[in-house]
Amino acid sequence: MKIYRVFILFITLLVLVLFCVADEGMWPMSEISKLNLRDKGLEIPPEEIYNPDGLSLIYAVVNVGATGSFVSPDGLIITNHHVAYGSVQAASTKEKDYIRHGFLARNLSDEIPAQGRTARIIDSFRDVSEEVLSVVEPGMSYADRTKAVERKIKDIVKREEKQHPGKRAEVAEMFSGKTYVLFLYTYLRDIRLVYVPPRSIGEFGGETDNWMWPRHTGDFSFMRAYVAPDGSPADYSPDNVPFHPKKYLRIAPEGVREGDFVFILGYPGRTYRHRTSYFLSFEEEIRMPYVVDWYQWQIDIIQKIGEKDRGIAIKHLSRIKGLSNTMKNYRGKLVGMERLDMTAKKRAEEENMQKFIDADGNLKAKYGDLLEKIGEVFRDMRQNAESELLLDYLPRSVIMLYFATTVYEAAHELRKPDLERESAYMDRNFPRLKQRLALYLRNYFEPTDKIVLKEILLRAFRLPEGQRIKALEEIIGGRTEGDIEIFIKNVFEKSRLDKEAILMKALEMSPDELYEMNDPFIQLAAALYPVFQEQKEKDRTRKGILDELRAKLIDVKQEYLKKDFIPDANGTLRLTYGRIRGYSPRDAVWYNPITTLEGVIEKTTGKEPFDTPEKIFSLYKERNFGRFAHPGLKTVPVCILYDMDTTGGNSGSPVLNARGELIGVNFDRAYEATINDFGWSDSYSRSIGVDIRYVLWVTQKYGGVNTLLRELGIDVSQ
Ligand code: ASP
Repeated sequence: MKIYRVFILFITLLVLVLFCVADEGMWPMSEISKLNLRDKGLEIPPEEIYNPDGLSLIYAVVNVGATGSFVSPDGLIITNHHVAYGSVQAASTKEKDYIRHGFLARNLSDEIPAQGRTARIIDSFRDVSEEVLSVVEPGMSYADRTKAVERKIKDIVKREEKQHPGKRAEVAEMFSGKTYVLFLYTYLRDIRLVYVPPRSIGEFGGETDNWMWPRHTGDFSFMRAYVAPDGSPADYSPDNVPFHPKKYLRIAPEGVREGDFVFILGYPGRTYRHRTSYFLSFEEEIRMPYVVDWYQWQIDIIQKIGEKDRGIAIKHLSRIKGLSNTMKNYRGKLVGMERLDMTAKKRAEEENMQKFIDADGNLKAKYGDLLEKIGEVFRDMRQNAESELLLDYLPRSVIMLYFATTVYEAAHELRKPDLERESAYMDRNFPRLKQRLALYLRNYFEPTDKIVLKEILLRAFRLPEGQRIKALEEIIGGRTEGDIEIFIKNVFEKSRLDKEAILMKALEMSPDELYEMNDPFIQLAAALYPVFQEQKEKDRTRKGILDELRAKLIDVKQEYLKKDFIPDANGTLRLTYGRIRGYSPRDAVWYNPITTLEGVIEKTTGKEPFDTPEKIFSLYKERNFGRFAHPGLKTVPVCILYDMDTTGGNSGSPVLNARGELIGVNFDRAYEATINDFGWSDSYSRSIGVDIRYVLWVTQKYGGVNTLLRELGIDVSQ
């Protein structure tokens, strides 16, 4: 009996050691030396991951919209299929449908520009909190506080870019209103497509499987970064040459097994774990349901528009993908929040903290009304939420209005001194903005814009009495559906902003010149300009108030919980670590952490999104797995699941083994893990990657691109 108990204890300890290494945490590089990663399973010195004085793995990680990594000395980048998607779509036509058939360059000269794409590489970073906050003075209005901080950040950026020619400086807010870090980056601007599998592999399972486990998607693609012959970053030119990164990742073609230690380096976008219950309930009750409803409406209508003509469908692919991705993510979050009772739990934590504050005279004087004041801001946001949300989504949803509002704003902003402009219109950013608009124009399809504008105007007219947007009603000249229809017919008939040359010229015009243009969309933008300006000022005031309060909140939380925190994700480089690990989504259900080719075959119905290329079937039947079969499973692994802490922006991140070698490419999270952005759960927080063995198998056996495997250092003779 005793031996039996000892045995149970041993097994329990083993399970604890094996599985409880994962922890909440998207760690900034400055923190990783404190993590004792060697004890958790890392087999290389942590300095090989990040070393402020030397070469380390972080130089192999790039930001290509989301994350990617260098995997060869010649600038080859691996990322997700869905990260490269926009560029693949932009290069696709009905005749050359790279989304449907994939894209393959057999040699360098076949590689084509990944339009609109840049690769950002980190050079260095340092804390500049003191300098940024030196401009905050007691007695400042909240809007002025926000403006002063914004202005200071621009000063720092300008100074640093002058001191480091060719680099881009960016200041990231780590803790709201409290800590700021200056990053210096190199931006490579000539990025090309190398190999992209067809949709039936790269997007297998489509929206049905998105945010789901078990997963069987080959969500990867290869791109390459180019530079001028002298090695400097340059725009596309046929004379450019492949970039040689300081560091690239070694690949481990043998992959991983369940329980293995793994880590990710990447650029997680945004998390909100330090926010209050007021924020959570606003998201849960107001903002996310609004977005889900609005996006679903757009998806349904846009899908119908593209049903009959592939050329039209192609124009809309990225948009539908983006809308669906966010919509399903929000649905997942809403389910998860309810299931875990997240808002109520946060509120209970806050109540306990309030008791702690109230029990100490000093704390009470400093922080006594902190939570209450944060609550006030959210109460104010709730008052006009519907019209504020509509205004926010109006130019984002109607492309012509987006053009017009940008043109109109540019006319005003470009006339100010550089440092006083909104960031997008500063000299350092404006060329990119113009480029983005030109790319948008390629996907512009007037009938879609008309339908969307009509619907959003109808919704505007249904706003409750106190929230009506008078400027809209005035310019439309009535409140009925008929008035809207006449208005829409007129604006689309007369506007010329859908002509690239005119749009680009308009972006440089003064307000007077714009007035002369007599363009009805510009007139609409002009009518809405004061409304948008007023909203911006409101947002600045709210940010000013919240920045100050959130900074205090972190201070008091530190005193209350007696621990340090790491900042929420904010698009800066982070590390997360954990293990290949399954989970239980519901009672009596256990999900294994590795899927295989068998699952691809099982799921295949022959119909989108579960269609599989014939060649994959024959390779499977022949059991032609090359060197990429899992030794235990005796087949090719497809996707892996792990308990690491990721979010949007981590798409395309390298998944590395204990020796820092590439074993997968992160691309998604399980449905229950969509709540990750608000809170970590050891039971549910699971992320998904495509297994490197599937990447290599598809590239070699399906794509037939041995050259690429050789470039990756993989012996293809085996
Ligand atoms: N698939 C995700 C995205 O597209 C990545 C994640 O959020 O985990 O944002």
